[in-house]
Amino acid sequence: MSVAASSDPILQGVGNTLLILSGKGGVGKSTATVQLALTIRSMGHRVGILDIDLCGPSIPRMLGVEGRDVLTTPEGNWVPVCVDEEKRLSILSIAFFLDSKDDAVIWRGPKKNSMIKQLLTSVDWGVDYLIIDTPPGTSDEHISTMENLRSANVLGAVLVTTPQMMAIDDVTRELTFCKRTGIAVLGIIENMSGFVCPNCSDCSNILASGGGEQLAITSGVQFLGRIPIDPRLTQCTELGQNYLELFANSPVSAVYKEVVCKL
Ligand code: ADP
Repeated sequence: MSVAASSDPILQGVGNTLLILSGKGGVGKSTATVQLALTIRSMGHRVGILDIDLCGPSIPRMLGVEGRDVLTTPEGNWVPVCVDEEKRLSILSIAFFLDSKDDAVIWRGPKKNSMIKQLLTSVDWGVDYLIIDTPPGTSDEHISTMENLRSANVLGAVLVTTPQMMAIDDVTRELTFCKRTGIAVLGIIENMSGFVCPNCSDCSNILASGGGEQLAITSGVQFLGRIPIDPRLTQCTELGQNYLELFANSPVSAVYKEVVCKL
């Protein structure tokens, strides 16, 4: 990966951009977004996360910054919320603009499109890498994002799936979307791939195994790696605990380091 600053009004102050896509909800796309961001941050880069999952924004909760206020610059741009003391991880999410965490975003296409445009053009990032967490599927948000991102430095998309065929079919549709919109596919992550018992070290393939890798082979896309089920990740999300604390000790982080090296 290399860093090159863009002077385009889209994504101001962003070096390079990665899109995270999944065919289905619940496969671990937001978790992968956070883990990728923490990994790239641990390599000394400044990283931003833009959460455009308008109907299910979960990044602020995962990073323990739910309910924070978003400040505005004198020029009227949003300032992303800083997650760490070193100011190397900052995020912006639609969740920050909702009155309460139980509020639902019930918007038709044009309103969603204008929010996406604003999120892509009116934020002062100041990061080397921006990771965009998109909603599952190929909806208004994706089309609008791709239209607006045309002139930005987009490295490409990372696709996240679980190993079973039900999820794989949907990822195949994501691949078609990337092809049609001309975005490079950097690879496929197979998440929730096996669970290693902490007592006997036996690996159980609870959600089957190898479907993501098989899809990568058949579609000629790079396979980025298998991420095991780590119950502590689920606990973090459940309890709203900060992933930063878990990151250093989780076996999942070691796999993500290998994933980032392949991008
Ligand atoms: P998505 O963004 O695809 O909807 P999330 O990232 O929100 O999915 O993950 C859904 C749930 O699965 C969350 O509770 C999350 O903590 C959990 N999860 C995701 N990946 C893993 C993993 N590798 N091990 C354990 N739990 C995981």
